[in-house]
Amino acid sequence: MEPASVMIDNLCQKLLHSLCQPYHFENLEHFSTLSIGATLFRGKEESIDELFKQADLAMYQAKAAGRNTFRFFDPAMQIRVTEHATLARDIRQGIQQNTFFLVFQPQISHQGQVSGAEILLRWQHPERGIVSPVEFIPVAEETGLILPIGHWVLEQACLQLAEWETDPRRRHLELAVNISPKQFQQTDFVSQILTTIELTQCNPHRLKLEITESMLLDDIDDTIKKMDLLKAKGISFSLDDFGTGYSSLSYLKRLPLDQLKIDKSFVSDMTHDKHHADIAKTIVSLARSLDLAVIAEGVETEEQRNMLEGFGCFSYQGFLFSHPLTLEAFTRQFL
Ligand code: C2E
Ligand code: MG
Ligand code: MG
Repeated sequence: MEPASVMIDNLCQKLLHSLCQPYHFENLEHFSTLSIGATLFRGKEESIDELFKQADLAMYQAKAAGRNTFRFFDPAMQIRVTEHATLARDIRQGIQQNTFFLVFQPQISHQGQVSGAEILLRWQHPERGIVSPVEFIPVAEETGLILPIGHWVLEQACLQLAEWETDPRRRHLELAVNISPKQFQQTDFVSQILTTIELTQCNPHRLKLEITESMLLDDIDDTIKKMDLLKAKGISFSLDDFGTGYSSLSYLKRLPLDQLKIDKSFVSDMTHDKHHADIAKTIVSLARSLDLAVIAEGVETEEQRNMLEGFGCFSYQGFLFSHPLTLEAFTRQFL
C-alpha cells in the first residue's frame, strides 16, 4: 500500500482538477478555485480539535501560496504562528511598559551640514534585547498595534521639534517620521496630525512624513486629499524606499510629494552593479523633472556618496555619516 501522504496527494490533485472545471450557472460560465489543507495522524493520539486546527493552518498556507493548491500541515508552521502570537502579546506589553524608544539618524545636505534626522523606532525587549523594527513592525501592522505606537512616535517627534524651535541654532532642523499604511488609512489621520501639532506647538514646516509606494495605490484620490490638507499646513512628504515599489509615473505626477528617497538597496549595489547605478541615476533625474528633492539612504562609503553627487543627488543618510543615535548622542555629535 502507498503511504498516506502519497494517497492524500493524489486525492487532492483529483479534487483540484475536478472542482476547477468551468461550469455554467444562469447561462454564465463560472470558475472556482479551492485551497486544501491536510494533516496526518502519524499514529499519535491527537484530539479532533487539534487535527482540525492543523488542517486549517495548512489551508491558510495554501491560500497564502496563491490558492488553488494544497498544503500539508508542518510543525514549523505552528511554531511560526505561535511566535507571531507571542510577539503580538509582547508588543502589547511593550506599549504598556514603555519599552519602545527612538533613535535619530542624521540627514546630511551637500555642504556636509545636518539638515535634520529620520526618527526610527527601537524596542528594548525584556528578554531578547533590542528587537529590530523590521521584525516587529509587520506584526504591529497586522494587529493594529502600529496605531498607538505610530501616534506616540509622531508625538515625540513634534515635542522634539517644539523644543528645537526655541533654540535659534536648531530651529532649522527637520524630522522625518515613518508613517505606516494602516496609520495613513485611518479616516481621522489628518486631524490626528494637526491636533498633535497644535498641542505640541511645533513648527509643521519642520515635519516630514515618510510614506511608501504601497500605500499610495489603495485609493489615490483619498491619498491626495489627505496629503493636500497636511501640505496646506506646511507638512512635507517624502516617498521612502523609492524604486522598490511599482508606482506609475502618472500617479507620481499627481501626488503632492516633496522628496523621493532612493532605496538603500540601489545605493549599496551601485558601485559594482551598473544596473543599480542606472536606477539611482534615473531616480535623481526623475526627481528633477518632477521638481522634487531627492535624498539617498543607506550611504555607507565615500565612493557611493561621490557617485550620487555625480548624479545630482546632494542629500544623504547612512552609516558613512552616522548610525542611528540616541537623542543625547545625536545632540552631542551633530548639534
Ligand atoms: P526605513 O524607513 O527605510 O529606514 C531606513 C533603515 O535603514 C533603518 O533601519 C536604518 O537604520 C537603516 N540604515 C540607515 N543607514 C544605513 C546604512 O548605511 N546601511 C544600511 N545597511 N542600513 C542603513 P531600521 O531602523 O532597522 O528600520 C527599518 C524600517 O522599519 C524602516 O525603514 C521603516 O520602514 C520601519 N520603521 C522604523 N521606525 C518606524 C516607525 O517609527 N514607524 C513605522 N511605521 N515604521 C518604522
Ligand atoms: Mg524611512
Ligand atoms: Mg527607506
